[in-house]
Amino acid sequence: MNSIILLYIFITGTILGSFFNVVGLRLPRNIPFTTSRSACPHCSTPLQARDLIPLFSYLISKGKCRHCQHSISITYPLAELITGFLFLLAYINLGLTLEFAGACLLISLAVIVTVSDVNYMLIPNKLLLFFAVVFIIFRIIDPLHPWYDSIYGALTGFAIILVIIVLSKGGMGAGDMKLLGTLGILMGLKLTLLTLFLATLIGTVISLTLLSFKVIGRKDPFPFGPSIVLAAVISYLFGFDLLQLYYETFFL
Ligand SMILES: [Zn+2]
Repeated sequence: MNSIILLYIFITGTILGSFFNVVGLRLPRNIPFTTSRSACPHCSTPLQARDLIPLFSYLISKGKCRHCQHSISITYPLAELITGFLFLLAYINLGLTLEFAGACLLISLAVIVTVSDVNYMLIPNKLLLFFAVVFIIFRIIDPLHPWYDSIYGALTGFAIILVIIVLSKGGMGAGDMKLLGTLGILMGLKLTLLTLFLATLIGTVISLTLLSFKVIGRKDPFPFGPSIVLAAVISYLFGFDLLQLYYETFFL
């Protein structure tokens, strides 16, 4: 594999990741993310061009604002690094295909949802509506087999979490329901079910870890969105391998 293409995809991922972090922080507060320039959240000094290079800016400034020395949240370089890494993983897994484009769309949604849900316990409707439309257009261009698998996926994702919400009286939120429904359009029925299964596992592991390190208390609300989107990325990239492994392990 050409290392220049790999580097190009990673760098593109980090630049977009920087933008997704801003969207995730601003969209829930209705701050426009395309017009106003980025500024230090502490002293409001607008960032210079040299402060906007993904990863490097954070490393060179040692995670502090040049102006007021206030420390910059680790989520900035993390969002950049994770997006770059996932774009790279998707390319290695899928090559330069339409499904790779679908993976990049999914990763974009995943990073924005994670930033927003971790910071505000909220997945903005506007974001989900935007990606629902994007996924529908994508699945018209590159349909699932059969094409109506998108409809099954969306309805099932929506319906299952609705049942969980009713039965658990608030264990999951309406945002999670709309999120899995939106993902269902892209992923179809099987991968949507796998996503929910993996999300439950990931969510349990993360919440138990956070509880045991006392990062959160037993009664604290716990955002489930990040577990869902991480599970969705794993399912999209490795889902059919995982399902095959499962069948071979238990039915052969
Ligand atoms: Zn500052």
